[in-house]
Amino acid sequence: MKETPLDSLIRAFAGLPGLGPRSARRIALHLLVNRERAMNPLMQAMAQTAENIRTCHICGNLDLTDPCAVCRDPARADDLLCVVAGISDLWAVERTGIFKGRYHILGGVLSALDGIGPDQLSVAPLLERVRGGAFSEIILALAATVDGQATAHYLTDRLHTLPGGTDLRITRLAHGVPVGGQLDYLDDGTITTALKARK
Ligand SMILES: [Zn+2]
Repeated sequence: MKETPLDSLIRAFAGLPGLGPRSARRIALHLLVNRERAMNPLMQAMAQTAENIRTCHICGNLDLTDPCAVCRDPARADDLLCVVAGISDLWAVERTGIFKGRYHILGGVLSALDGIGPDQLSVAPLLERVRGGAFSEIILALAATVDGQATAHYLTDRLHTLPGGTDLRITRLAHGVPVGGQLDYLDDGTITTALKARK
Protein backbone atom coordinates (compact mmCIF):
# COMPACT_ATOMS: atom_id res chain seq x y z
CA MET A 1 0.00 0.00 0.00
CA LYS A 2 1.33 3.41 -0.94
CA GLU A 3 2.18 5.76 1.90
CA THR A 4 -0.12 8.76 2.08
CA PRO A 5 1.26 12.28 2.68
CA LEU A 6 -0.16 12.04 6.19
CA ASP A 7 1.71 8.78 6.80
CA SER A 8 4.93 10.43 5.58
CA LEU A 9 4.33 13.38 7.89
CA ILE A 10 3.83 11.12 10.90
CA ARG A 11 6.88 9.07 9.97
CA ALA A 12 8.97 12.25 9.66
CA PHE A 13 7.87 13.48 13.09
CA ALA A 14 8.41 10.07 14.65
CA GLY A 15 12.03 10.19 13.47
CA LEU A 16 12.72 13.44 15.34
CA PRO A 17 14.73 13.38 18.60
CA GLY A 18 12.51 12.80 21.63
CA LEU A 19 9.42 11.86 19.64
CA GLY A 20 7.87 8.47 19.09
CA PRO A 21 4.95 7.30 16.90
CA ARG A 22 2.38 8.34 19.50
CA SER A 23 3.56 11.94 19.89
CA ALA A 24 4.13 12.07 16.12
CA ARG A 25 0.44 11.25 15.51
CA ARG A 26 -0.66 13.82 18.09
CA ILE A 27 1.44 16.55 16.48
CA ALA A 28 0.25 15.64 13.00
CA LEU A 29 -3.37 15.73 14.09
CA HIS A 30 -2.85 19.06 15.87
CA LEU A 31 -1.39 20.52 12.67
CA LEU A 32 -4.22 19.14 10.53
CA VAL A 33 -6.87 20.59 12.80
CA ASN A 34 -5.05 23.94 13.15
CA ARG A 35 -3.81 24.46 9.61
CA GLU A 36 -4.00 28.25 9.65
CA ARG A 37 -2.74 28.84 13.15
CA ALA A 38 -0.14 26.09 13.47
CA MET A 39 0.72 24.39 10.19
CA ASN A 40 1.21 27.38 7.91
CA PRO A 41 3.52 29.33 10.26
CA LEU A 42 5.52 26.14 10.85
CA MET A 43 5.87 25.53 7.12
CA GLN A 44 7.04 29.08 6.56
CA ALA A 45 9.50 29.02 9.45
CA MET A 46 10.96 25.71 8.29
CA ALA A 47 11.27 26.79 4.67
CA GLN A 48 12.91 30.07 5.62
CA THR A 49 15.30 28.41 8.06
CA ALA A 50 16.25 25.69 5.59
CA GLU A 51 16.96 28.29 2.94
CA ASN A 52 18.93 30.71 5.10
CA ILE A 53 20.84 28.65 7.61
CA ARG A 54 24.63 28.63 7.21
CA THR A 55 27.51 26.78 8.85
CA CYS A 56 29.96 29.26 10.32
CA HIS A 57 33.36 28.66 8.68
CA ILE A 58 35.16 29.84 11.80
CA CYS A 59 33.52 27.93 14.65
CA GLY A 60 31.11 25.47 13.02
CA ASN A 61 27.98 26.99 14.56
CA LEU A 62 24.74 27.20 12.59
CA ASP A 63 23.34 30.68 12.05
CA LEU A 64 21.71 32.89 9.44
CA THR A 65 25.08 34.49 8.73
CA ASP A 66 28.61 33.21 8.13
CA PRO A 67 30.53 34.14 10.29
CA CYS A 68 27.90 33.49 12.93
CA ALA A 69 26.64 36.09 15.43
CA VAL A 70 28.97 34.79 18.15
CA CYS A 71 32.06 35.05 15.94
CA ARG A 72 31.04 38.51 14.71
CA ASP A 73 30.28 39.91 18.17
CA PRO A 74 32.94 42.58 18.84
CA ALA A 75 32.13 42.61 22.55
CA ARG A 76 33.45 39.08 23.05
CA ALA A 77 36.96 38.29 24.28
CA ASP A 78 39.29 37.14 21.49
CA ASP A 79 41.70 35.43 23.84
CA LEU A 80 39.24 32.96 25.32
CA LEU A 81 38.18 29.86 23.37
CA CYS A 82 35.61 27.32 24.51
CA VAL A 83 35.83 23.97 22.72
CA VAL A 84 32.56 22.02 22.66
CA ALA A 85 31.51 18.74 21.05
CA GLY A 86 28.34 19.98 19.35
CA ILE A 87 26.08 22.92 18.66
CA SER A 88 23.70 21.89 21.46
CA ASP A 89 26.65 22.27 23.86
CA LEU A 90 27.32 25.77 22.53
CA TRP A 91 23.67 26.59 23.13
CA ALA A 92 23.87 25.12 26.64
CA VAL A 93 26.89 27.27 27.55
CA GLU A 94 25.33 30.34 25.93
CA ARG A 95 22.17 29.91 28.00
CA THR A 96 24.20 30.50 31.16
CA GLY A 97 25.23 33.92 29.83
CA ILE A 98 28.50 33.90 31.77
CA PHE A 99 30.89 32.93 28.97
CA LYS A 100 31.98 35.88 26.83
CA GLY A 101 34.66 34.35 24.63
CA ARG A 102 34.68 32.45 21.34
CA TYR A 103 33.73 28.87 20.51
CA HIS A 104 35.00 25.98 18.48
CA ILE A 105 32.73 23.07 17.64
CA LEU A 106 34.46 19.72 17.27
CA GLY A 107 31.54 17.91 15.71
CA GLY A 108 31.69 15.07 18.26
CA VAL A 109 34.27 13.38 20.45
CA LEU A 110 36.87 10.74 19.76
CA SER A 111 35.45 7.24 19.96
CA ALA A 112 37.34 4.06 19.23
CA LEU A 113 34.09 2.14 19.40
CA ASP A 114 32.38 4.26 16.74
CA GLY A 115 35.54 4.62 14.68
CA ILE A 116 35.73 8.38 15.21
CA GLY A 117 39.30 9.63 15.05
CA PRO A 118 40.77 13.14 14.94
CA ASP A 119 40.27 13.31 11.16
CA GLN A 120 36.50 12.92 11.55
CA LEU A 121 36.41 15.89 13.93
CA SER A 122 37.28 19.55 13.54
CA VAL A 123 40.67 19.06 15.20
CA ALA A 124 42.98 20.33 12.46
CA PRO A 125 40.94 23.56 12.06
CA LEU A 126 41.08 24.00 15.85
CA LEU A 127 44.87 23.69 15.93
CA GLU A 128 45.12 26.00 12.94
CA ARG A 129 42.89 28.52 14.63
CA VAL A 130 44.80 28.46 17.91
CA ARG A 131 48.10 28.73 16.06
CA GLY A 132 46.92 31.79 14.16
CA GLY A 133 45.00 33.35 17.03
CA ALA A 134 45.85 35.17 20.22
CA PHE A 135 44.20 32.84 22.69
CA SER A 136 45.45 32.79 26.26
CA GLU A 137 43.01 30.18 27.53
CA ILE A 138 41.33 27.20 25.91
CA ILE A 139 38.40 25.74 27.82
CA LEU A 140 37.72 22.13 26.91
CA ALA A 141 34.02 21.96 27.74
CA LEU A 142 33.55 18.29 26.94
CA ALA A 143 31.31 15.73 28.56
CA ALA A 144 32.47 13.86 31.66
CA THR A 145 32.29 10.59 29.73
CA VAL A 146 35.24 8.31 28.99
CA ASP A 147 35.26 9.48 25.35
CA GLY A 148 34.81 13.14 26.31
CA GLN A 149 37.72 13.06 28.74
CA ALA A 150 39.92 11.06 26.35
CA THR A 151 39.22 13.74 23.75
CA ALA A 152 40.14 16.50 26.22
CA HIS A 153 43.36 14.66 27.00
CA TYR A 154 44.21 14.25 23.33
CA LEU A 155 43.48 17.91 22.56
CA THR A 156 45.59 19.08 25.50
CA ASP A 157 48.56 17.12 24.14
CA ARG A 158 48.09 18.45 20.62
CA LEU A 159 47.63 22.04 21.79
CA HIS A 160 50.77 21.86 23.89
CA THR A 161 52.85 20.89 20.84
CA LEU A 162 51.90 24.13 19.05
CA PRO A 163 54.50 26.92 18.99
CA GLY A 164 54.02 28.67 22.34
CA GLY A 165 51.54 25.95 23.24
CA THR A 166 53.06 25.33 26.65
CA ASP A 167 52.09 28.89 27.59
CA LEU A 168 48.44 28.21 26.80
CA ARG A 169 46.17 27.85 29.77
CA ILE A 170 44.13 24.75 29.01
CA THR A 171 41.23 24.23 31.39
CA ARG A 172 38.36 21.79 31.78
CA LEU A 173 34.96 22.12 33.33
CA ALA A 174 35.10 21.40 37.06
CA HIS A 175 32.71 20.12 39.69
CA GLY A 176 29.08 19.83 38.92
CA VAL A 177 29.43 17.88 35.70
CA PRO A 178 28.26 14.43 36.75
CA VAL A 179 30.28 11.46 35.53
CA GLY A 180 28.86 10.48 32.18
CA GLY A 181 27.12 13.86 31.95
CA GLN A 182 26.45 15.44 28.58
CA LEU A 183 26.48 19.24 28.72
CA ASP A 184 23.22 19.47 26.90
CA TYR A 185 21.31 17.72 29.68
CA LEU A 186 22.67 19.81 32.51
CA ASP A 187 20.74 22.67 34.02
CA ASP A 188 22.14 26.16 33.47
CA GLY A 189 23.21 26.57 37.10
CA THR A 190 25.32 23.41 36.94
CA ILE A 191 27.08 24.54 33.78
CA THR A 192 27.66 27.98 35.30
CA THR A 193 29.27 26.42 38.38
CA ALA A 194 31.37 24.07 36.25
CA LEU A 195 32.57 26.97 34.10
CA LYS A 196 33.44 29.21 37.04
CA ALA A 197 35.32 26.45 38.85
CA ARG A 198 37.21 25.25 35.77
CA LYS A 199 40.78 24.15 36.31
ZN1 LIG B 1 31.02 31.18 14.37
